[in-house]
Amino acid sequence: MAVDGLGAYDPQNIFARILRGEIPCRRVFEDAHALAFHDIAPRAPVHVLVIPKGAYVSFADFAATAPDAEIAGFFRAVGAVARQLGLEPPGYRLLSNMGADSGQEVPHFHVHLFGGGPLGPMLLPELAPAA
Ligand code: 5GP
Repeated sequence: MAVDGLGAYDPQNIFARILRGEIPCRRVFEDAHALAFHDIAPRAPVHVLVIPKGAYVSFADFAATAPDAEIAGFFRAVGAVARQLGLEPPGYRLLSNMGADSGQEVPHFHVHLFGGGPLGPMLLPELAPAA
C-alpha cells in the first residue's frame, strides 16, 4: 500500500531492517552515507535501490531536513553506484517515489537506479494532459 511520504519515520520499515542487517540484501555499494542493493523485484536489467543511512521517510523529508553533508554524501554515492555498475556511459535513469500519487511503498527515502539497456518512455504517454 502506498504511503503518504510525510508521516513519522517507522523504524520497522523494510529498509530500516536491511540497514540494521536484520534482513539480507544483495549489496552493491556502501559508504558512510548510503547503502545500495538490488531490488527484490527488478523492473529493468539493472535495478538498484540507493538509500541514505539516516532515517528519512521520503525525498520530501530528506530534502527538507537532512544536513547538507548527508545530502551531498548521498547523491555522490548514487553517482558512485552508477559508475561502479558501468552505467556511465551508456546511461541510466533515477527515480524516487514520494507519497501516495507516486505509489511509494517503503517509507524510507530511496532512489531507484535503472539501467542495463534502453529504458523506454519516462512515463506512460496516456498520463499526459491532452495537447
Ligand atoms: P517504492 O514503491 O517505495 O518506490 O519502491 C520500493 C521498492 O522496494 C520496490 O521496487 C520493491 O520491489 C523493493 N523492495 C520491497 N521489499 C524489498 C526487500 O525486502 N528487499 C529488496 N531488495 N527490495 C525490496
